[in-house]
Amino acid sequence: MNNKPQNLKKGSETKVCNSCGQAIDAVSPSGIFVDYLQIEKEWGYFSSKDMMGHSFNICETCYDRWIKTFKISVKEYDVTELFKNII
Ligand SMILES: [Zn+2]
Repeated sequence: MNNKPQNLKKGSETKVCNSCGQAIDAVSPSGIFVDYLQIEKEWGYFSSKDMMGHSFNICETCYDRWIKTFKISVKEYDVTELFKNII
């Protein structure tokens, strides 16, 4: 597996999907906001990762592929604040 990020641009706006390695731009070239999953987890003392933090980003394509592997579907609900994640 190639872990080198693809199409990585310089600048602070670009994040990388930890699953596929593709760059995740906050805004696409067409000006559309690009959403992604950002996870930060601090593992507790009794886990096998004692007091270790993990963080990663998953693009929407990889997210969709990932949740299809779940035995129980993700809970869906209506979001009423449309712009709360846009800076
Ligand atoms: Zn991805």
